[in-house]
Amino acid sequence: MDCSATVIGGGFYGCMLAVHLADAGLSVTLCEKHDDILGRASHANQARVHNGYHYPRSLLTALRSRANFPRFLREFDDCIDGSFEKYYAIASRHSHVTARHFAGFCGRIGAPLRPAPDRIRRLFDPHHVEAVFAVEEHAFDAVRLRRAIWTRLVSAGVDVRLGVEVRSLGRAFPRGLRVEIVAAEGPDEWRADRVFNCTYSGLNTVLARSGIPPIPLKHEITELALIEMPEELADIGVTVMCGPFFSCMPFPSRGLHSLSHVRYTPHATWHDSDAAGRQDPESLLAALPRRSRFSLMVRDAARYLPAIAGARHVDSLWEVKTVPPASERDDGRPILLEETSALPGLTSVLASKIDNVFDMLDAVGIPAVRRRCAA
Ligand SMILES: Cc1cc2nc3c(=O)[nH]c(=O)nc-3n(C[C@H](O)[C@H](O)[C@H](O)COP(=O)(O)OP(=O)(O)OC[C@H]3O[C@@H](n4cnc5c(N)ncnc54)[C@H](O)[C@@H]3O)c2cc1C
Repeated sequence: MDCSATVIGGGFYGCMLAVHLADAGLSVTLCEKHDDILGRASHANQARVHNGYHYPRSLLTALRSRANFPRFLREFDDCIDGSFEKYYAIASRHSHVTARHFAGFCGRIGAPLRPAPDRIRRLFDPHHVEAVFAVEEHAFDAVRLRRAIWTRLVSAGVDVRLGVEVRSLGRAFPRGLRVEIVAAEGPDEWRADRVFNCTYSGLNTVLARSGIPPIPLKHEITELALIEMPEELADIGVTVMCGPFFSCMPFPSRGLHSLSHVRYTPHATWHDSDAAGRQDPESLLAALPRRSRFSLMVRDAARYLPAIAGARHVDSLWEVKTVPPASERDDGRPILLEETSALPGLTSVLASKIDNVFDMLDAVGIPAVRRRCAA
C-alpha cells in the first residue's frame, strides 16, 4: 500500500491533523494502537477549555488561549459544558501572583473578570485566600468530542486503523518513508510521502525504535481524582492560583468533578535524558502501583475551600503528561513541531492544550497535494 500521509496516534491532535490533510486532498492513513480514538491524554485530562487565565506567567500561551477559545467553542459547540460557574481564587501565601497582578494580567489579555459574589466568597477561607474572581471558562465532554471527531474522520475519508501500532520508521526507496506496524494479524509495512508522529508521551518511543535521537521532554505520571462534589459546590469549578495549589473542574462525560493538585497529582517525573527515559512511558504508567492521593489532595484543598472536605472519591484517571522541559520555568505550553534531517518527511508534533490544536494545524501547512491512491 502507498499513501501520501500516515499519521501516528489517534488522539485529538492526530485525528484533527488527519482530517486537515485529507480535506486538502491527501490520502491519509491514521494508526491508533488502542481500540478507539481519543482514549489517552485526550480523554484523561481536566477537560478545561482554556481562556488564558491559567497562564499569568506565560503571556504567549495566555494570548493563544484567548484566540483559540471562541473558535473551539464554535467548532465543538455540542461538546461544551458551559452550565457551571467558574472561579479563580488567589492564595494569600506562596502564590506567584497577587490579586492585583492577576487582575492586571487579565486586563492585558482581555479576559473577562469580575469579583465573585458574596455567596461564593463566603465559601473560601479568608486567611488563605486573598481574592476570588468570576471568570469565563468552560469544560468539554471528552466522550462527545470523540463522537464529533469520528464524524469528521469518516466524512474526510481518512483510513483509520485501530489496534495498529507503528513500531518504527525508515527510509523508503526511491523516496518517502517506510512505515512498519504490528497489528493482530501480524506485522506489515507500507510507504508514505509524509509521516506525522502525534503520539504525545510516546513521541520518543517511536523515534528511538527508528534510530532517531530523542526530543528533550519531561514526563509526569499524573492522577486526576474524579469526585462527587458536596451540594454547595456541585455547580461551580474552582482554581486556586498560582503555585502549589489545586483545581477542581466539572468532568462532563462522567457527571463528576476532577480534582488535581500541583503537589500530589504528579506521582512520578522524569526527563527523556534520564535512564528511565529510555523506557516507554506507557509501560511505566502500566507498571506504577495506583495508590490514590485523593485524601492528600482534598485535605490541602479544604484549607482554602472548606466545603470540599465533603467530596466523595469515585475514581481516578491516570495518564502521562508530557511537556517541553522549558515549561518548568514559566508554565507555558508551546506546541512543538520537530522535523529531523535523519528522516526527511517525518514531523513529530508535541501537543500543548486541546484548544491550541488550531495553532498546530496552521503551523503544519499542507504538504504538496497528491491525489488519493488506492491500497
Ligand atoms: C493530567 C492532564 C491534564 C490536562 N488537562 C488539560 C486541560 O484541562 N485542558 C487542555 O486543553 N489540555 C489538558 N491537558 C493536555 C491535553 O490533554 C493534551 O495536550 C492532549 O490531549 C494531547 O493530545 P494528543 O493527541 O497529542 O495525545 P493523546 O491523546 O495521548 O494521543 C496520542 C495517541 O497516540 C497513540 N499511540 C502512541 N504510540 C503509538 C504508536 N506507536 N502507534 C500507534 N498509536 C500510538 C496513543 O494510544 C494515543 O491514543 C492535560 C493533560 C494531562 C495529562
